[in-house]
Amino acid sequence: MGKINKSITELVGKTPILELTNYEKKHDLKAKILVKLEYFNPNQSIKDRIALSMIEDAEKKGLLKPGYTIVETTSGNTGIGLAAIAASKGYKFRVYVQDNVSKERFQVIKAFGGETIKLSENPVIKEVLEKTNGDFVAAIAELREKVLSKEENIYFVDQTANPANPAIHEQTTGPEIWEDTDGNVDILVANVGTGGTVSGTGRFLKKQNPNIKVVAIQPGPNSLPSDENPSPEEITGVHPFEGVPVERVPATMDLSIYDEKYEVETSEAFQAAREVAKSDGILIGTSSGAAIYAATQIAKREENAGKTIVAVLPDTGLRYLSTPLFEE
Ligand code: PMP
Repeated sequence: MGKINKSITELVGKTPILELTNYEKKHDLKAKILVKLEYFNPNQSIKDRIALSMIEDAEKKGLLKPGYTIVETTSGNTGIGLAAIAASKGYKFRVYVQDNVSKERFQVIKAFGGETIKLSENPVIKEVLEKTNGDFVAAIAELREKVLSKEENIYFVDQTANPANPAIHEQTTGPEIWEDTDGNVDILVANVGTGGTVSGTGRFLKKQNPNIKVVAIQPGPNSLPSDENPSPEEITGVHPFEGVPVERVPATMDLSIYDEKYEVETSEAFQAAREVAKSDGILIGTSSGAAIYAATQIAKREENAGKTIVAVLPDTGLRYLSTPLFEE
């Protein structure tokens, strides 16, 4: 029987798992590293999953109706996924962004018919940014309270607090890993941005087998702003969740889900991403590099010989061609 899809929404998820066979040999690893390639999603990142689930959840709850505008505050992968799915479902899309966002990301959102607004363009928000020394979280809170609450016919998605974010990973990402490995998985490695991936996927896998270990990645100390280095190169989409005030951890992050926190520096993430491009022919972004780097160090531990590690790789390296990752 043929299979013709009628909407990009039908193309989200069901991404393939690949064993990094050449890379394993090169490093003489005694554990297997399997990677889940989320760049196979229609907009080349894992965020298509949550973009679709958050939109359809709001439709079901009657919070999003024909003619409404979908609003979000990130031009990252979530913004791109939302812009595409909004287009396909006939909604308008608007995103508020920080001033330093790369031109490519603006261009992609605009190509999908989305509207991009710099936070500093709104006078109320501009004042907050000036008062708080550029605190993005404070600016978003103000935007929500003082600007968006007065508007009608909009739906503010907020991936950092939307339960449909971790839920879709529990319903799809986790089950896909379980099925494709026939349940042969010992360790899950995932990044933490909103925490949706690690929380939902981890929850599903632990329900199948409570012995599965979940490793959550956060940026190392040299990759976070400090007095010596106020704007270090960052791992895109990955944020600290331990050692920061708990109110700065997104509600979508389940702090009870992980067994180990692993810190990766941006330089290590770059190294791993560049290496697997050459060894196994996969072009991935910095957070994917971080996941492979962490998986490699964990694979080298004696107690993990013979085990299977699954690392979730969030996006494509094509989105990083103008960044230091693939500059050279
Ligand atoms: N990597 C990239 C490139 C991302 O865009 C994100 C999400 N901001 C993550 C990793 C982290 O995923 P999650 O939000 O599910 O924790």
